[in-house]
Amino acid sequence: MKLQKLIDYLEAIAPPAYQESYDNAGLIVGDPNVTIKGVLICLDSTEDIIAEARKRKCNVIVAHHPIVFKGLKRFNGNTYVERTVMQAIKHDICIYAIHTNLDNVYRNGVNTKIAEKLSLKNLQLLAPKKNLVKLEFYLNQSQIEAYQKYYSKKGVPAGFHNVHSLLAVQTDKKRDVAEMKYETAVAENEVGDLVHFLQNSIGSKALQYNTYPISERNHQVGSGMIGHLAKPLLPATFFKRLKKAMDLKVFKHTAVLDKKISKVAVCGGSGGFLLSHAIRQGADIFITSDYKYHEFFDADGKIIIADIGHYESEQYTIELLHGLITKKFSNFASHCTKISTNPVFYY
Ligand SMILES: [Zn+2]
Repeated sequence: MKLQKLIDYLEAIAPPAYQESYDNAGLIVGDPNVTIKGVLICLDSTEDIIAEARKRKCNVIVAHHPIVFKGLKRFNGNTYVERTVMQAIKHDICIYAIHTNLDNVYRNGVNTKIAEKLSLKNLQLLAPKKNLVKLEFYLNQSQIEAYQKYYSKKGVPAGFHNVHSLLAVQTDKKRDVAEMKYETAVAENEVGDLVHFLQNSIGSKALQYNTYPISERNHQVGSGMIGHLAKPLLPATFFKRLKKAMDLKVFKHTAVLDKKISKVAVCGGSGGFLLSHAIRQGADIFITSDYKYHEFFDADGKIIIADIGHYESEQYTIELLHGLITKKFSNFASHCTKISTNPVFYY
């Protein structure tokens, strides 16, 4: 089976247009037309993971975090990112990342999995994105250059940062000009402005673009998740459940409040930006990671912040992806990595 078929399946679950502006989810290394020999699933596609893929005869890595976020200018092995990409290319291993687009879907998303582990009920997105449409457009090489020049002078309008995510490369055979296909999810009322900006940037009204409605019923999109416990628990009892469910040795938290925990907000990875949503929606505890010292003060007696570690919060994404892939395909082997790529150790 071709890799593209697996990508199509995963992107029907978590369309790349739902990724955040800073993200780089998608096929990062490799040819979508290769035949899949085996798939290795991980959070971080590091050099160790490439070695594991080789050992297990997998030519496709499905990772949560994109190994490449920004443009790379040299490939001489100076950084782990360069070395990983070089190793992948050298050994014909494809790297595909499914990141904030998988965070942001209600069904089968990263946060849905965490909520399931914590046995939360009545799940709702913590910060839903409303009235989204998918904007798809094509630019050729000279238009991209014109666009880049234009935005470096004018800046990019709000809501339009996703255009920098290159999602597919298509070749226009007739004119032999490489065309890049971009797609992004934007608020419906911003489409006009964004198309106008694009047309101005390339100095042409002949921009090829399409918009597609995003069905809110099938694809609720947004960050974080909030839900209820079956019955309220004392903080200490809930803390024990949290440690067991998320396989934690330790976790950091703010002052325990003098009430039971019944409403729980979660966000895998760095979710601090969602604290106000969690407080507004009456969560008793907000479980996420990557909190800094001063940010813990923002709990301010209104909520408990629990920082359980980035890797720990997202570890079950591997199980989630493995379940989704094996449920659909039986014509290749799909493995969860046996390596912990967590760069943080506890003593
Ligand atoms: Zn993450």
